[in-house]
Amino acid sequence: MISFESKLQLLQKNGLLRERRTIEGPQGAILTVDGVQLLAFASNDYLGLAHHPDLIQAAHHALDRFGVGASASALISGHSKPVELLESTLAQWLGYERALHFSTGYMANLGIIPALVGEGAAVFSDVLNHACLIDGIRLARADAVTVYDHADVGHLESAMKQSSAPEKWIITDAVFSMDGDIAPLNAIVALADQYDAHVLVDDAHGFGVLGEEGRGTLSHLGIQSSRVVYMATLGKAAGVFGAFVAASAEIIEWLIQRSRTYIFTTGTPPVLAAACLASLTRIQQDQFRRNHLHEMGNRLQEGMESLPWPTLPSLTAIHPIILGDNFTATQIADALWARGIWVPAVRPPTVPEGTARLRISLSANHQPEQIDQLLNALKALA
Ligand SMILES: *Cc1c(COP(=O)(O)O)cnc(C)c1O
Repeated sequence: MISFESKLQLLQKNGLLRERRTIEGPQGAILTVDGVQLLAFASNDYLGLAHHPDLIQAAHHALDRFGVGASASALISGHSKPVELLESTLAQWLGYERALHFSTGYMANLGIIPALVGEGAAVFSDVLNHACLIDGIRLARADAVTVYDHADVGHLESAMKQSSAPEKWIITDAVFSMDGDIAPLNAIVALADQYDAHVLVDDAHGFGVLGEEGRGTLSHLGIQSSRVVYMATLGKAAGVFGAFVAASAEIIEWLIQRSRTYIFTTGTPPVLAAACLASLTRIQQDQFRRNHLHEMGNRLQEGMESLPWPTLPSLTAIHPIILGDNFTATQIADALWARGIWVPAVRPPTVPEGTARLRISLSANHQPEQIDQLLNALKALA
């Protein structure tokens, strides 16, 4: 029999063993984690909406009206009114014909990619794409997959030029989850025009944070193209749970017919969709949250300049400090923890070998003093 004990020991030896924390109480800048109060920079609740009273009230109301469970998959027992409304609201707001709700972003990408990428198609995928895009591409069993260097449009173009596939898909994160940088989507869409390709954009970290009224990265970059299939999640800046894809009516209809992670899973509890609808209103109306998040990001970036470690410029809520070695990353994370600050150490396989890092994520909940507290602690450890 395989010894999982020795496999686990190997993880430990390589500094790759992960530890789960237990949070008491709601999300916020200050969390009670395993019984200890910490200033946290670990969440993707970028706009501070996960504990917003409007969302809570909408959820209460929906619980009373709809109960808890959705009972079966959407195609068997129907989908709920809040989910229907969420889809149409998202589509209209973002400027697409239709949208389709998925239970999570992971499920969405696992379902969208195999359903859309046809036989004989070629796929072009950024090397730093999120794990669920990679897994979706694997499931699609495309004839040819090119993994291009990160954000390298030249590399992408030379690969596309060489491909004679009748159908081409470029698949990319819009904002890279562990680096915080934005994909060169203007150039990518221009290449798609030139080589008659489709583009699947995963905007898990841009939706709500970037663009006019928080419409996301495409709005931020001024892109509007019928070649783009847009996917984003509702568990990060939207502060709830779930995901959606927005596209032409025919693509969405095809996904309803063919996306296995849509068809063969129980529908989303209506309460979550109702909370998402309330969240969309806050995303649209609360520009101050994005402004504040941006100010906190600038304050952090300025302060990080005096640190000895490489940082990456970022317009988003994600600000990594690259430490390289797995043990260095966990040591510094542990030392911050001892000072009452929680910044997660991110190690392979989440990031490439040799690029272990602290992933600082900011939220509209953070105050300037808290950014300074983090910077002072980092300086003391440098
Ligand atoms: C978090 C994330 C997902 C997965 O979304 P979930 O709703 O958490 O399953 C997908 N893509 C990217 C880029 C992500 O960062």
